[in-house]
Amino acid sequence: MQCVTSTAFGPAELLHRLRARGSGTAVSPVTHIERVPAREGRPAPWPAWTEPAVRDAFVAQGISVPWEHQAAAATLAWEGTHVVLATGTASGKSLAYQLPALNALATDPRATVLYLSPTKALAADQLRGLNRLGLDGVRPATYDGDTPREEREWIRQHSRFVLTNPDMLHHSMLPGHGRWGVFLRRLRYVVIDECHTYRGVFGSHVAHVLRRLRRATARYGASPTFILASATSGDPAGSASRLTGVPVTEITSDASPRGAVTFALWEPPLLEPHAEDASPIRRSALRETADLLTDSVIAGTRTIAFVRSRRGAEVIASTARQSLNEAVPGLGDRVAAYRGGYLREDRRAIERALLSGELLGLASTNALELGVDLTGLDAVLICGYPGTRASLWQQAGRAGRAGDEALAVLVARDDPLDTYLVHHPEAVFGRPVEATVLDPGNPYVLGPQLCCAASEAPLTDADLDLFGGHGLVEQLTAEGLLRRRPSGWYWTHRGRPEVDLRGTGGAPVSVVEAATGRLLGTVDHGSSHAMLHPGAVYLHQGVTFVVDDLDLEDAIALVHQEEPDWTTHARDVTNLSVVNVRSYVDAGPVGLFLGDVDVTNQVVSYQRRRLGSGEIIDTRPLDLPARELRTVAVWFTVSPQALTAGGVEPGEFPGALHAAEHAGIGLLPLIATCDRWDIGGLSTANHADTEAPTVFVYDGHPGGAGFAERAYGTAAEWLRATREAIASCGCEAGCPSCVQSPKCGNGNNPLNKEDAVKVLDIVLAAL
Ligand SMILES: [Zn+2]
Ligand SMILES: [Zn+2]
Repeated sequence: MQCVTSTAFGPAELLHRLRARGSGTAVSPVTHIERVPAREGRPAPWPAWTEPAVRDAFVAQGISVPWEHQAAAATLAWEGTHVVLATGTASGKSLAYQLPALNALATDPRATVLYLSPTKALAADQLRGLNRLGLDGVRPATYDGDTPREEREWIRQHSRFVLTNPDMLHHSMLPGHGRWGVFLRRLRYVVIDECHTYRGVFGSHVAHVLRRLRRATARYGASPTFILASATSGDPAGSASRLTGVPVTEITSDASPRGAVTFALWEPPLLEPHAEDASPIRRSALRETADLLTDSVIAGTRTIAFVRSRRGAEVIASTARQSLNEAVPGLGDRVAAYRGGYLREDRRAIERALLSGELLGLASTNALELGVDLTGLDAVLICGYPGTRASLWQQAGRAGRAGDEALAVLVARDDPLDTYLVHHPEAVFGRPVEATVLDPGNPYVLGPQLCCAASEAPLTDADLDLFGGHGLVEQLTAEGLLRRRPSGWYWTHRGRPEVDLRGTGGAPVSVVEAATGRLLGTVDHGSSHAMLHPGAVYLHQGVTFVVDDLDLEDAIALVHQEEPDWTTHARDVTNLSVVNVRSYVDAGPVGLFLGDVDVTNQVVSYQRRRLGSGEIIDTRPLDLPARELRTVAVWFTVSPQALTAGGVEPGEFPGALHAAEHAGIGLLPLIATCDRWDIGGLSTANHADTEAPTVFVYDGHPGGAGFAERAYGTAAEWLRATREAIASCGCEAGCPSCVQSPKCGNGNNPLNKEDAVKVLDIVLAAL
């Protein structure tokens, strides 16, 4: 096998080559270049408390001494302080928790350690690392849904380092805590790896699972120390404390060495419109990234392209393969697609091939973010802003080896946030990364979790201090879910409460190939109407299927294999009513509100769009039921008089508000760790409940996830960025980069870009 182990080009030369391709257009696609300097490593001595056997095991693995941040976090944990280590990709966070944990097992022959990871794959990686250390008496073992019954008993009895995930803790270990009594009594450390992934509704559930764990260990007489590992994030101590419910100390100064990175912001060019009256279309980020990947593979550079969707990864890989084979027959074989859901053996094979240089290009979903040690690449292409600066840096962090220069490129998608960012580099480079948002107080999370806790052991008043929810327990009692007795609140049913940590509310829909009966995969309940409606195009491992029938009762979608020349985009209709106002700002003609709302949503039709160009072929009706959601919203109202005085004609109210709503949703991920798909919006020239022109933005999860709350708290910053994004877009009358939305239920009609800026100016001036 022919291998290329080092690139022929430095980052500047490679960037020059990539740019050369776009030289036919007048405007350079590169909007900004940032140089991230190299960093020298700062080693520290092994802490004095380190057992020689433990130290020797690490030294034998090539770790001669720890870095400063590893030693500092390990020592805090060893002293019994709850600690979170929040540093970059490949900064060696594992050592920081393995050191105190293994030291505890070496010095106390009865101590145990519980390790939690968000994925099975990551737990399996950890297990391999622990086995390689080869320390006696640790007997590490993964305990998950795949663990055979006969092994489970052995693990409970003998393993002192159990690797599992929050779902397993929730569904199996805590309900069966009696069988884990010995393990829990001796529990010294709880390690929570990749803790930044516990955000939104899922994070809020996990926060309560951890409180249930603390309650269980306390009952058996233990009080373990929590060690959390996080990607770089804003306020890690605050988020970790919210997650665990205990005060946590943070270590954030990364002392590991890093190579210099040249970071380019890249905006694909506008294409000439096909027809006179058509608005210009920007070249798609997928096509652009596929071409950059092609060029960089031709240049002999080991490159990874990150893209958000599985479909995107498949499209980039297949487009690049095709172009490469046209350039040099056979070269296409050196590019592959990689995404979550692949078997571990397949993942390993792809990683090995990329590290050896046998593969030169990889198109991947962010599956790689979760701990797999694939770093030291020559170039990273990021197709579309990944939603947060935290993920952006995690992905860019795959580039660069100590001593070597590397290139990272963010390719903007055609949406307001990406457009804003490539023209406002200070919003990417000059700011701290976001805090991880979660809300354990969400009653839709807390209520079910109190029932889970009560089914494990009756709830006492002290437990209510732990979980929160003194008021909620009365409501659960009134609903007959709990029963009050002198010794506490009891779960009244025979079985356990059915609670899904992912908060998807409803059974996932199975996707089944009609001709063979083969199960292809599942789609969560919330997304099923939009993704699996009859006629929807569904991609599975590079193969395209079309949905024939969606059976909502049995939660099954029947599909057949077909390669149509289009993609499908669902359309929906939304109604919203205000339940109550939690907080508001009265600013004269403008009002800003946070409150609870009821949202009714119905997927009513879908568009077919030509592959590649995105041209709309037709819109077809659908017959799906409406769904209801009680959630949290932020909204602003503006009096009609103020709008008119600000230069917005009454006939333009709907278009102006609608355009402001779209851009506002697009920009919210700038300030909260959400995805634009996690939130929804509604705008109207006169809302029945507010009796004024209003723009609503709401959390797309029952009970809210903390995003609208965050928007309310930082409204001025959020709306100013929204105004900037619209005003600075070079288009004439609105485009996907500013006020058009890919998920608009109204087909992006009406929209008034110019007047949206006026609306936001009025709101900002008043606030
Ligand atoms: Zn625009
Ligand atoms: Zn819309």
